[in-house]
Amino acid sequence: MKTVSEYFGSMVFDDRVMKATLSADIYSSLKKTIDEGRELDINVANAVAGAMKDWAISKGATHFTHWFQPLTGITAEKHDSFISTSPDGGVIMEFSGKELIKGEPDASSFPSGGIRATFEARGYTAWDPTSYAFIKGKTLCIPTAFCSYGGEALDKKTPLLRSMEALNKQALRVLRLFGNEGVKRVSTSVGPEQEYFLITREMYEKRPDLRFTGRTLFGAKPPKGQEMDDHYFGVIKPGVAEFMEDLNKELWKLGILAKTEHNEVAPAQHELAPIYTTTNVATDHNQLTMEIMQKVAAKHGLVCLLHEKPFAGVNGSGKHNNWSMTTDQGVNLLSPGATPHENVQFLLFLCAVIKAVDDYQDLLRISVATAGNDHRLGANEAPPAVVSIFLGDELAAVLDAIEKDAPYAGIEKKQMKLGVDVLPKFNRDTTDRNRTSPFAFTGNKFEFRMLGSSNSIACTNIMLNSAVAESLKEFADYLEKQDNFEDALQKLIHEAIKEHKRILFNGNGYDETWIKEATEERGLKNYRTTPDCMPHLLDKKNTDMLIGHGVFSMVELKSRCEIMLENYCKTVMIEANTMIDMAETGIVPAISAYTADLAKRIDIKHRVDESIKNGYETSTLKKLSTLNDCIAMKLEELEEELHKVHVIDDVENQSYRIRDELIPKMNELRLMCDQAEAKTAKSYWPYPSYADLLFSVK
Ligand code: ADP
Ligand code: MG
Repeated sequence: MKTVSEYFGSMVFDDRVMKATLSADIYSSLKKTIDEGRELDINVANAVAGAMKDWAISKGATHFTHWFQPLTGITAEKHDSFISTSPDGGVIMEFSGKELIKGEPDASSFPSGGIRATFEARGYTAWDPTSYAFIKGKTLCIPTAFCSYGGEALDKKTPLLRSMEALNKQALRVLRLFGNEGVKRVSTSVGPEQEYFLITREMYEKRPDLRFTGRTLFGAKPPKGQEMDDHYFGVIKPGVAEFMEDLNKELWKLGILAKTEHNEVAPAQHELAPIYTTTNVATDHNQLTMEIMQKVAAKHGLVCLLHEKPFAGVNGSGKHNNWSMTTDQGVNLLSPGATPHENVQFLLFLCAVIKAVDDYQDLLRISVATAGNDHRLGANEAPPAVVSIFLGDELAAVLDAIEKDAPYAGIEKKQMKLGVDVLPKFNRDTTDRNRTSPFAFTGNKFEFRMLGSSNSIACTNIMLNSAVAESLKEFADYLEKQDNFEDALQKLIHEAIKEHKRILFNGNGYDETWIKEATEERGLKNYRTTPDCMPHLLDKKNTDMLIGHGVFSMVELKSRCEIMLENYCKTVMIEANTMIDMAETGIVPAISAYTADLAKRIDIKHRVDESIKNGYETSTLKKLSTLNDCIAMKLEELEEELHKVHVIDDVENQSYRIRDELIPKMNELRLMCDQAEAKTAKSYWPYPSYADLLFSVK
């Protein structure tokens, strides 16, 4: 059997393969493109394409595809085979530089938010050489960006790459001011921790709600949920362990650095974390990880649920976006340094992040806004919808001392002077693991915890990179004009802390009093739902910033806003339809059947003893038949409401109506059905219970 180091990355056209298969000249040109973003020469592209094809064929590949991330949130691919006719009547395997660099998928059915009128169906995909090509099944997959012919981005990768470039540009300006001439590039890195549920396929198939919407729309609370917290980091069940082993193997072959895995808080919930890497690669890898999780689960007779909230009353799934900025010399700019000089630099970058998160709270919230994630944020299991930053006591005290010009106890009890004093090294243990904070400093990186498990990490990182680029730009604009750099720096940091300290909060983010303080005293934003936050994408301050850094154009922003709201509306309407269907064809008839049998039994009892009036059957029958009438009435209301929602043309208004009218009715219907489930004999209930689902994997 092969060892991990032998098969790790075996399906990736990575640096090792490039070195081995390309001539020295070609390899060095390609490296320049990858490392420094230089344009690619067609001769180089031809040579690379040839080597890629030979390598792919040697691994059994017959097709290639431009692999991209349209705004549907999942990845897309259209396969072409390598074959080409040859004059002797046979075929030869061909793949040109042109085919490598550019593709033209018929893109008319991908969402474009009106950018691309349907008659102009063409869009094109362009190779992203910074993310390695890989083989999936029998197909060579080439990571690409996806644009319209007008050049507008139709995907998530294009703006992500632009935002990385924006941050690079501004970070370099700041580093130059510190005298760092040697640094050529600053890039952002991400390690996304991915949560998910595993249930058996057998149970899954019996739940139309899971099949159509990814979450349960009904289900009474199980007798045992997560009250005991005995699942967290608990022993992994054999069926799950086999799945994880297989999953790791598949991910490793694709060069994905799957590192840790453990059980999560809820029963049947697990987590996988990779070792961090450059943001665009991490994004590609996370998309692939989600896809492969589902494929491997299927091989094991399981289903991997990536929905944010598959089960009511049980913790949902999120994704933690661990984020940092690193120079090409390997210096993590969010790592407190060993010298005073490095420390001031660290403080400035830290302030840039604090300022960015405060100024663009709304964009971070928007970046995780989906119908699914609305169930988690603020439900005492994930961070609230209010964005704040946790720094830990030690760092908070340092910033406090700087702001007040007061002595800081950690530093020899004297006035803290930047550029002279050395900050204490923060060890990870003192940067307390505050699970309730949306944005936590964890020693040398920030962990953003509002992402939903099925979200692409692209949007969050686009907003984060752009917002930090904006802070750095403002800092550089100011500092470049000052004569005394040290004094200016001191003043800038002082002012930044003063201005943005309202976003800093070390306490319990789940606490009701915090939400009150945050919104009423500190003026922080609390956008509870997707319709609440999404329209703010187009607020002037946001469009100015994003357009200013070249991350989006106005057309792209408008289309994205439209698509996100459309997704929200469609998702909830599908859920409402599924509920109606399940209640009408499954739940109501089941309750009727059970009550009919109860009535028969009451009749029999009466024949035995006429005086029996209020036995178990009678009281259950009364409750259930009343409930069933209420359910039938609620169903009618819901159907009527759904019709009203359907005819609203404007997507923003539609989303408000859904939030205010449709969802409350869905919740009421669910409540009644769940009460009925708890009173109905199990053999009559048409769907597996929560206990059946959550404890199905052995
Ligand atoms: P946990 O948060 O569960 O304690 P770790 O802190 O070890 O786990 O790491 C969580 C994730 O953060 C991992 O994916 C890890 O690779 C990533 N990570 C660690 N350092 C950095 C960094 N400098 N930049 C980005 N991600 C990082
Ligand atoms: Mg973590």
